[in-house]
Amino acid sequence: MSSQIETTFLQGELYINGKWVSAPNQSYFESFNPATGELVGRCAAATTEQVNEAVTKANEAYLQWQNIPIPERAAYLLKAAQLFDIRKQVLARVMTMEMGKVLTESLGEVGVVIATAQYMAGEGRRLFGETVPAGFPDRNVRMVREPLGVVACITPWNFPVALASYKIFSALIAGNSVVWKPASEVALSAKIFVEVLDAVGLPPGVVNLVTGSGRTVGQTLAEHSDVKVISFTGSTEVGQKLAEMGCQTLKRISLELGGKNAVIVLKDADLDKAADGIVKSAFTTTGQRCTAASRVIVERPVKEMLLQKVIDLTQSMKIGNGLEEGIQVGPLVNEDQLHTVENYVKTAIEEGGTIVSGGQRVKELGGYYYEPTIIEDVKPHHTIAQEEIFGPVLAIIEVDSYEEAMEVNNGTIYGLSTSIYTESLHYANRAAKEAISGLVYINNGTSNAEMGVAFGGMKMSGNGHREVSHHAFDVMTEWKSIYTNY
Ligand code: NAP
Ligand code: MG
Repeated sequence: MSSQIETTFLQGELYINGKWVSAPNQSYFESFNPATGELVGRCAAATTEQVNEAVTKANEAYLQWQNIPIPERAAYLLKAAQLFDIRKQVLARVMTMEMGKVLTESLGEVGVVIATAQYMAGEGRRLFGETVPAGFPDRNVRMVREPLGVVACITPWNFPVALASYKIFSALIAGNSVVWKPASEVALSAKIFVEVLDAVGLPPGVVNLVTGSGRTVGQTLAEHSDVKVISFTGSTEVGQKLAEMGCQTLKRISLELGGKNAVIVLKDADLDKAADGIVKSAFTTTGQRCTAASRVIVERPVKEMLLQKVIDLTQSMKIGNGLEEGIQVGPLVNEDQLHTVENYVKTAIEEGGTIVSGGQRVKELGGYYYEPTIIEDVKPHHTIAQEEIFGPVLAIIEVDSYEEAMEVNNGTIYGLSTSIYTESLHYANRAAKEAISGLVYINNGTSNAEMGVAFGGMKMSGNGHREVSHHAFDVMTEWKSIYTNY
């Protein structure tokens, strides 16, 4: 199966109203493998008319789908979980070929898709309403959750299918229909994901796939009056634009955005555990995670000892093509991302930082590889301590106290994930309270979400909505209050 994929040129079409579609003069865009530069395949670029058609069909399908009893809707998701398990090798390999993450991570991500389908199927049974004591005799008052209609899911390339599954499965179980626009970088992975949903036999129009650029496809969805919800994960910049466009038709808009996540290490911490957590959260997925650790904020007395451990672990990581066994760090997703990383490292040096590990492109490997990089002498106001890099670059910042560490932690525009390593009950609890951050980890790295736990960020990392848990229904449903006089 696997060798078949590597020699087959893949082609993705649009999926509208239960059919794979392409117009006679359909244009296509190409998908490249960042590890080798090879062409993986091509994918249809939807026109505005095709996006509008997808929304129309989704809206028609919603009218039927919302009336299907929830246990029946759940049965579709449970069947999807089974079929994703059967297709996981194929899906994972295409993900690795399109965006470069190592195969074990891609397989883990398909595991998240399966768990999300199962979790949301179960949550369907718990879409409870409320009853309220009535203020008058012979009356009852109840509140129910209702679906909203068409949900536009717009997703990034770094988790090609897991983030889509959070959005799509919570939308579907609640009774909404979906039009999904994946990132162009991973459009073929999206195609395989939707092939599985097609095989599940969902009613036509309940899920639709429209590939193509954010500017045309994304924007059309954001402006369409029949789209009721935009569920977006991606950069803060694009999220802001979507919020602006969507507010014209008063859409509900859920934004999961960037981060500038830190690991705080206090002088009483277990430094081996801290180093392990730091390296895993900084360099897994080549640092291209919204929850990646890009800052270490360490108390001065333990800085040298911690840094040596972090360097040793980092330099033992194997860089290469994620399809090969034993590789821990794959390439960056594309040339742009490589240049972004190179520029940030250059700026860091100009501002006074010192490279203590990495700092170079890995030219001999051919693809868009960059060494996992550690930079010390970074001050909290430096560019690499403030801006999201989305690459394998870790800034080391020294501080003199817990209080200073927390001030530095909170001193960026973002608020997604904060980690603290300490043996102190006092400081661990203060950090849990004082970090302005949607996720707080005590004695764990910054990047480790569990199913059923609300996921999302504060400040410019989001707009207050949460996913991965039942809190997703605050986005995917709205309340109706019903008064009955008897
Ligand atoms: P991005 O550039 O914001 O793109 C995200 C999605 O939006 C893609 O599907 C993109 O399509 C689309 N898009 C781009 N411009 C658009 C526009 N003007 N209107 C409508 N849609 C548009 O982000 P990315 O580079 O793919 O992903 C990296 C970012 O995602 C990072 O900032 C990272 O922190 C964030 N992220 C956040 C989370 C979280 O949960 N908080 C998780 C993962 C990633 P095309 O690319 O096809 O044009
Ligand atoms: Mg690619």
